[in-house]
Amino acid sequence: MGSIKEYFSSVGSGVKSLLVGMGVTGKELVTPKITEQYPENRATLNISDRFRAELTLKYDAEGRHRCIACGICQMNCPNGTITLKTKMVELPDGKKKRKLDEYLYDLGSCTFCMLCVTTCPQDALEFSNDFEQAVFTRDKLIKKLNYRPEVADPAPAPKPAAATAPKPAASVAKPVAAASKPAGEAPASPASGSTGEAK
Ligand code: SF4
Ligand code: SF4
Repeated sequence: MGSIKEYFSSVGSGVKSLLVGMGVTGKELVTPKITEQYPENRATLNISDRFRAELTLKYDAEGRHRCIACGICQMNCPNGTITLKTKMVELPDGKKKRKLDEYLYDLGSCTFCMLCVTTCPQDALEFSNDFEQAVFTRDKLIKKLNYRPEVADPAPAPKPAAATAPKPAASVAKPVAAASKPAGEAPASPASGSTGEAK
């Protein structure tokens, strides 16, 4: 008797489990689809702005980047993904300045940790969301980030002319005091004064 009861109990739990599974399947049947039909939908594909696909230098409207070749990003990168090459240039005032020559980034070894971006003192780096980076050989993943032609720095602004300092009041008062004395009278000196008191 006990075994018959157990048999029908197990059949009941099986039917219940089947109905739960069918319920999930039926729900998904009417849920809107979120599968991307890539690459057919390449033109309408919406990639999140925060997606980290590739490191890039930020450029302004005139084609200048903000990198000062300080090397902080290279030092902070945990796996040697960044290689900086620098050069010395002479400024119009004759001073020497270190500038960026080549910024090499190996996409193949980047872990997208973003340490380089967050520690850059110039806010010169960012990640693009251009995810289509498939190539046939790894050496094609090494990219020169300063790929645009170098734009000359703007000329330094001329220094403002130094303001003329006003003359001290004492230097003006002295000649006036001397002019107020009668002609022929010798100016009093501390030495002559002290001689009179002694008599
Ligand atoms: S990208 Fe930023 S941290 Fe890296 S060298 Fe240039 S200024 Fe320095
Ligand atoms: S994201 Fe991380 S691993 Fe990639 S270059 Fe920057 S510091 Fe290096």
